[in-house]
Amino acid sequence: MKQVQLAIIGGGPAGLSAAIAARKAGVEDILLIERDRELGGILNQCIHAGFGLHTFGRELTGPEYAGEYVRQFRELNIPCLSGAMVLNLSPDRVLTVTGRETGLVQIQAQAVILAMGCRERPRGALNIPGTRPAGIYSAGAAQRLVNVEGLMPGRDVVILGSGDIGLIMARRMTLEGARVHAVAEVMPYSGGLKRNIVQCLEDFHIPLYLSTTVVDIHGRERLEAVRSLVLETAAGCSEKLAWGAPTYYLNGYLLQFAAYKKHLGFYTTPATLEHWKEALSGYKTNEKNTVQFPHNKELPLDLMKEMILFRIREKETESQDTNK
Ligand SMILES: Cc1cc2nc3c(=O)[nH]c(=O)nc-3n(C[C@H](O)[C@H](O)[C@H](O)COP(=O)(O)OP(=O)(O)OC[C@H]3O[C@@H](n4cnc5c(N)ncnc54)[C@H](O)[C@@H]3O)c2cc1C
Repeated sequence: MKQVQLAIIGGGPAGLSAAIAARKAGVEDILLIERDRELGGILNQCIHAGFGLHTFGRELTGPEYAGEYVRQFRELNIPCLSGAMVLNLSPDRVLTVTGRETGLVQIQAQAVILAMGCRERPRGALNIPGTRPAGIYSAGAAQRLVNVEGLMPGRDVVILGSGDIGLIMARRMTLEGARVHAVAEVMPYSGGLKRNIVQCLEDFHIPLYLSTTVVDIHGRERLEAVRSLVLETAAGCSEKLAWGAPTYYLNGYLLQFAAYKKHLGFYTTPATLEHWKEALSGYKTNEKNTVQFPHNKELPLDLMKEMILFRIREKETESQDTNK
């Protein structure tokens, strides 16, 4: 079995700078293992400028920034396996690696540095209900397709989440000819930098809908539409997953949505259903707390908004009673 003094898993900026620092500190026998074809990590797909001001004193793109580390790494002649993925790391530091050129090999390391970066949460982890058509990507996957692979993931785009990567991708997709219809953000404020809101959305007239989230996804083979709901009615509410579905809280449980094959379930309270009995007469309810809005009918958004407001009043009354 091959032996190394130090194995570094991941050839992004962290892995590269760890290798450079280790070599400069006197570690001779280093092996860096990167599963991608290229070194540089995620920054290779971040082709916008804005990197490097602190470290290099000038503004660089992501690939340029990563390239600086790759250059230093190469100058030090540190061995590297690229296109090789670490599948397992045992407690006694044996790495199982697979790669096109290496095949399946095991490497015994005296020390291991983990520099594998992080992952975006996929749709499953966000628990957005609906079918699983093609056309739904994490911002990072879309970024890689457009910037590295030269592929357009779609032409009519809705972006869920207004963090910096979502904002940057709104601009990127627009520059590549797509129409970005909206950026939806569940919180009443954006998580992105003001600079990015101005330069990526406002400059391109892309609307940002705050307190808004996607509650349903349509399309079988390919994404056809998303259904969003404006939560401004309940501004300040928080969203969590409970019982496997998006659930909203405002001074405690407020309401919940869950999408099924043929309908959207809207979970409120018995009093809400009772109060809106007449307006809900055309819909199936469980006569307790749930109403079913079928997918083949337009969502009664005004009614839903009124029901949400009713729930908020219910919560306010409850909390006043508790405070008495
Ligand atoms: C989609 C996205 C966009 C971003 N945009 C920006 C931005 O605009 N501005 C900004 O400042 N920061 C941005 N970031 C954050 C920035 O990319 C990270 O801070 C930086 O890349 C972290 O460097 P890293 O080396 O820790 O991880 P990474 O750059 O992720 O590198 C990790 C490396 O490990 C490799 N790897 C993972 N698992 C294995 C394995 N089992 N075997 C072998 N190799 C493995 C990966 O292929 C990858 O090359 C973004 C991050 C993401 C995910």
